[in-house]
Amino acid sequence: MRIRDIFPAWGRILTGRQPLLSIEITKECPLRCPGCYAYSADHLGEGVSLIQLNDYRGSELTRRALEAVRRFRPIHISIVGGEPLVRFRELDELLPKLDEMRIETQLVTSAVRPIPESWSRLENLHVTVSVDGLPADHDRRRAPATYDRILKNIAGHRVIVHCTVTRQMLSRKGSLEEFSRLWSERPEARKIWFSLYTPQEGEESPERLTAADRAEAIIELARVRRLFPKIHLPDAVLRGLAAPPNSPEECIFARVTKCLSSDFETGISPCQFGGKPVCSECGCLASAGLASLGTYKLAGLVSVADILAASAAVGQAWSGFPLRRDRSATVAVR
Ligand code: SF4
Ligand code: SF4
Repeated sequence: MRIRDIFPAWGRILTGRQPLLSIEITKECPLRCPGCYAYSADHLGEGVSLIQLNDYRGSELTRRALEAVRRFRPIHISIVGGEPLVRFRELDELLPKLDEMRIETQLVTSAVRPIPESWSRLENLHVTVSVDGLPADHDRRRAPATYDRILKNIAGHRVIVHCTVTRQMLSRKGSLEEFSRLWSERPEARKIWFSLYTPQEGEESPERLTAADRAEAIIELARVRRLFPKIHLPDAVLRGLAAPPNSPEECIFARVTKCLSSDFETGISPCQFGGKPVCSECGCLASAGLASLGTYKLAGLVSVADILAASAAVGQAWSGFPLRRDRSATVAVR
């Protein structure tokens, strides 16, 4: 989101709405990635796991997705999973409709199956492919969505390649540069994004970065972005990654995003990660970007974060919604 995008979003916040919508379109996924949060026991809270929810197919899925769009009237939608391409037939019906409605839509996928050629003509669709580092690491972590398969399945498209930096990646010197070179040379990659691994409370995993790892990763990313113009990592985002919010209440991204799971009813809180993410170690690109945007002072006086917080409070009062929780999700703007 850019400063000029704030104003349409603002109107929605003032009427008690969240302008960004994230939908776990299906609970199914053929991958079993280490560090995946979607299937963890506390992803949705209260002992409900993603795998227990209803999962829709066919025209019922499209109908429910469009109903959610009418209900929340977002300016941006992220379609995640599970693996969204498991429902490629339904997406083939839904995505052109969202495009006609001129809603910016990001589809986050492993590219485990071919991306239909017609989707490359949808102006408002942005396909983001998750790639966990160089082929040797990635193929081990994300089979069957291996490099070979990804390259076949994204042929003819211009995708955003998104890499989440883990501790294992940093243990191999120069891997971020090598990764950036590899994808910079691929015509299918129009942009390269990096985020940092975000752990859950109490997590002890090989992926989790130490404070020193985070600092090293940020310095390395600041260096390699100068070598490869496809890397999109503005100073503002690096600053956001260096100083993440301390809690969901301080996170602009969490406050302006409504996250829905595969039954289109169950919310995910406090943000798309669900469960109990460690905000002070957040590596989410969107959160970092919005955190930095929040420090921007309109007319040099009041920060965007303060204005959004005040607007959300007004919107909440205006809409008449008390703060309440439906299963794990906070419904009204927090
Ligand atoms: S592709 Fe996504 S949902 Fe599927 S296992 Fe990997 S991280 Fe989890
Ligand atoms: S984990 Fe990151 S995105 Fe989620 S609420 Fe915390 S700071 Fe925001």
